Amino acid sequence: MEQKKEPVNIAADGQYDTRGFSALMCCVTVMDTATRLIVNTVCLDKNEEKCPSTNLERRGVEKALRQLIDKGLQIKTLTTDRSKSVIAMMASKFPAITHMYDPWHLIKGVAAILRKECKNARAKSFKDWCQALLNQLWYSVTSAKGNGSLCQQYAVSSLLHSMGIHVWEGGKFSKVLHEGQARALCVDTEEAFPNDPLELPGKFVHEIEFKEYLKCGHEHPFTETATKSILCPLSKSYNVLQKAYTNDNFLNDLMHLSPELATSSLEGFHGLVSNVYRSKNHYYNLAGFTNRTKLAVLHYNHNVFAEINGTRKVIGTLQLKAKHRGGDTVTKKRKTPPDFTWKKHLISEVVNAYEIQLDVLLKEGIFDSDYHEEMEEETEEIVDFDINIDERIDHLFDSDVENEDS
Ligand SMILES: [Zn+2]
Repeated sequence: MEQKKEPVNIAADGQYDTRGFSALMCCVTVMDTATRLIVNTVCLDKNEEKCPSTNLERRGVEKALRQLIDKGLQIKTLTTDRSKSVIAMMASKFPAITHMYDPWHLIKGVAAILRKECKNARAKSFKDWCQALLNQLWYSVTSAKGNGSLCQQYAVSSLLHSMGIHVWEGGKFSKVLHEGQARALCVDTEEAFPNDPLELPGKFVHEIEFKEYLKCGHEHPFTETATKSILCPLSKSYNVLQKAYTNDNFLNDLMHLSPELATSSLEGFHGLVSNVYRSKNHYYNLAGFTNRTKLAVLHYNHNVFAEINGTRKVIGTLQLKAKHRGGDTVTKKRKTPPDFTWKKHLISEVVNAYEIQLDVLLKEGIFDSDYHEEMEEETEEIVDFDINIDERIDHLFDSDVENEDS
């Protein structure tokens, strides 16, 4: 990447050493979104940094970026979750880098609002729409390819589509929605009606316009599926949806969404770290914490390299029963087993060093436990920590995602 001299798109995410609110250390991991290779990790200890643990992630991101820039890497975009302190730091210290937010948190937030509304008896027909709305939101993010304005237009058009309007004229969101409602209700646009978009709070909905996107992306004329009835714009459920899709925070976030779920791949890496190399159940000092993270990076990057080089292939699919979906089956990719010769090299180097400097190492007590046995056992246990993004979106509405939150 240093040799390529082309600007790169990266994602960063922090992981703390413990669950809950008693973190001492934080590891910030940076991934190249094109290759999914981990390109940097920075581990920080709050006692050494002399700051509260909540500041560690921001500091770690800053330090990680500086190190990459010092190596000559040109960074075009950075994707993180939408942490306020990271947003402020990026704006003040790295104004030349486009800062984007991972869309997962936004989509999850909308899913929570929809799920809450569906608990009401009034939401019977609304319920049929929820998964489609989430799919459309995800589609809005990916197909806009980082164009924030287009992403806003795609997303807000869901409101028009849901009330049976599939073609519209350009103009401010609130005006277009107002006219759409009048058409859906067969009333004059001058007439006042409840849930009137012209009365919506916030400023963006009255400023941002439908410009290039003036009809739904599906086939025209649109034949309504028998299972879904059009939402009535006067209903309470529609009002909940309209509020969720037109408030300033939502519209502003759409402007900054990354077209990839980049931090989901980082979550996969974090899973590997905490499940295999550096359990959250044990205390490690900063050196141990850092070195175990590096081992996890070696593991992860070797797998990515193997997939890039084609030495690791998908050899089929596997039907598995999902624990959290009432026995639903999910499809997983089956791959050829990973190549762990890098571990053997590492061990032989360690053994070599041990033989050369036997006395020094013995004094430091490095070989207290039997390494070989531990390695053999772990190798059997290691599984992939890939996260299937499409699957996550497909089942977002059914699954209890709140429990997954870390
Ligand atoms: Zn439509």
